[in-house]
Amino acid sequence: MSLTLAIVGRPNVGKSTLFNRLVGKRLALVDDQPGVTRDLREGEARLGDLRFTVIDTAGLEDATDDSLQGRMRRLTERAVDMADICLFLVDARAGITPTDEIFAEILRKRSAHVILAANKAEGAAADAGVLEAYGLGLGEPIRLSGEHGEGMTDLYAAIQPLA
Ligand code: GDP
Ligand code: MG
Repeated sequence: MSLTLAIVGRPNVGKSTLFNRLVGKRLALVDDQPGVTRDLREGEARLGDLRFTVIDTAGLEDATDDSLQGRMRRLTERAVDMADICLFLVDARAGITPTDEIFAEILRKRSAHVILAANKAEGAAADAGVLEAYGLGLGEPIRLSGEHGEGMTDLYAAIQPLA
């Protein structure tokens, strides 16, 4: 199995938490402190009977507002170019932000295969954000909760046909 999936999205949407769940080892640091995780991190993911390489895009947490956009764009483009599938996470609790729109634009330009996921979607507080995610023009969002492990069968169903 040589499938590579890159988890992309703005800081704090839950990329590393989901990476850790998929990889099952603490390869990526999850921390609220800035500057803790850097660059790209790779691990071997297991999801049901699927095995694939997963890339966590980090290294954005310590960027200032000024440098964030450029770094984010370069790092995301690197990850997209390495990947067969991009799993684009948005935070369903926060709703769609202008930064999410920038990511959506990057992904559309790279013509990558994109799976859109509305993360942190446990509970009804996320419903409005999930609906907003349809507006990104990247198809139907999967409802996910990386932290609580919800939506993993829907994620499986989205990846499985591509594996
Ligand atoms: P990253 O910056 O995209 O890698 O995000 P992290 O994985 O570091 O998570 C950022 C924050 O969101 C942390 O406080 C996590 O505990 C929290 N978080 C991650 N996944 C979920 C989720 O599914 N639900 C909720 N409610 N919080 C989450
Ligand atoms: Mg992270």
